[in-house]
Amino acid sequence: MLIECHDCKAKVDAEIIGHHTDNDFFAVKTFLLKCPSCNSSLIAESHEDYKENEQTWTKPVRVYPKPQRSLGKDIPPIVKISIEEAEKCMQAAAYLAATAMCGRALEAICRHYKTKDNYLGGGLKELKDNGLIDQRLYQWGEELRDQRNNAAHATDTDISSQDANDVLTFTYAIIDYVFLLAQKFEQYQARKVKRLKSKETATTKT
Ligand SMILES: [Zn+2]
Repeated sequence: MLIECHDCKAKVDAEIIGHHTDNDFFAVKTFLLKCPSCNSSLIAESHEDYKENEQTWTKPVRVYPKPQRSLGKDIPPIVKISIEEAEKCMQAAAYLAATAMCGRALEAICRHYKTKDNYLGGGLKELKDNGLIDQRLYQWGEELRDQRNNAAHATDTDISSQDANDVLTFTYAIIDYVFLLAQKFEQYQARKVKRLKSKETATTKT
């Protein structure tokens, strides 16, 4: 089975040691695999699906070790595409390209919020000034911007796997903060207001 090996950082034809399918409505098939090159154990999952009433299975994806993070549907597509590209570059050990893609994701966040400044530096500052990111995230953003500039321009700087991994982690943190946490907080506040209102109505009735 073709799968990305986290250790070889390449697609390998892994040997299937065993598999199991659960009984759920949309079943999940779990595979225990062995990398033929580095002998690592890998676990992959494939999900049952239906296309025109025909049963199909999704392409197996590694879930252990180091699974790829999945981004929710609330993330704007342009941000999602950049992150997915960055993940692919990481899996292929293309660290410069991965870092450049993280920079693209940040630019996409600025564009989503329609910052006046088209440059990443100015865009990030606007996000901070408008309260969309805090001081710490702004500093991270500035670090990402520096790394992105090194990666995107023909300089002789090299980017290590650890640096590229940190850049990806920071990018996820900024995405979580800007899109997911802000939204969860708004939903929480809305529920709170609703609860208070129904309490008030109940008290005025009695
Ligand atoms: Zn391997």
